[in-house]
Amino acid sequence: MIVFDLKCDCGYTFEGWFQNRQDFDNQQTASFLVCPECGGKDIRKILSPIRAQSSESSLGRDLQEKEEKPELLSGAVEVLETLQEFVEKNFEDVGTELATESLKIHYGVSEPRNIRGVTTAPEEKKLKEEGINLLKIPMPVKNKNVN
Ligand SMILES: [Zn+2]
Repeated sequence: MIVFDLKCDCGYTFEGWFQNRQDFDNQQTASFLVCPECGGKDIRKILSPIRAQSSESSLGRDLQEKEEKPELLSGAVEVLETLQEFVEKNFEDVGTELATESLKIHYGVSEPRNIRGVTTAPEEKKLKEEGINLLKIPMPVKNKNVN
């Protein structure tokens, strides 16, 4: 089914549903299309401005234009802080056991869950070889000796 925006000679616009474009042509030719406002049969298809703009190519252009604009640093810091807060609340801190736990979860030994912690470069290489991808974000260092 496709929907066309239709316009009567009287100026009234409405939507019409059709099996396909051919179906619309057939109905128009046979004068099956009737204006709900005035009953007139001089119905034409109009292009809605919104639908005309929503082609994939124009969407692609919009995205590219956005990517070319550098984000404000303050905005980036805000996003990072939100991410850090989310990770702290929702991820279990396994500290230096991150690589070991990641492997255990990967092989179904441990319960699947969100974990965070620290890894060494060799550990990261090993995880990558096992097909485990780590998301690395800078976390604020907290001084545990305070109080
Ligand atoms: Zn009309």
